[in-house]
Amino acid sequence: MRTSNLRMTVILARCQKRGVSLSPGEQGTIRLTPPGVLPSHLKELLTAHKADILKLFTAPPADFLSEAPCTTCGSWERWSWLDGRELCRVCLVLDFAPMTLRHDAA
Ligand SMILES: [Zn+2]
Repeated sequence: MRTSNLRMTVILARCQKRGVSLSPGEQGTIRLTPPGVLPSHLKELLTAHKADILKLFTAPPADFLSEAPCTTCGSWERWSWLDGRELCRVCLVLDFAPMTLRHDAA
């Protein structure tokens, strides 16, 4: 079962709320700073989304933060594309929304 796109940013926001920052650890792990703060259910969610989270770590950082959250994933992070468009970093990195047209699930 695939969780919704929004879920991912919600998980990251919950970690931030608890003052926990995520960074890439050794051998494809996620390092939590400080450790031991997150409840186990949140850790399980992080593990379930590990591949996506690591992709976000390794992608170039956002060019700027939008004033409104992305309607697809809820992220504020944006890239200024070559043609002047503002594209959601999270959606592009995780392939949520094709660059041309987004198809809403029927
Ligand atoms: Zn997005």
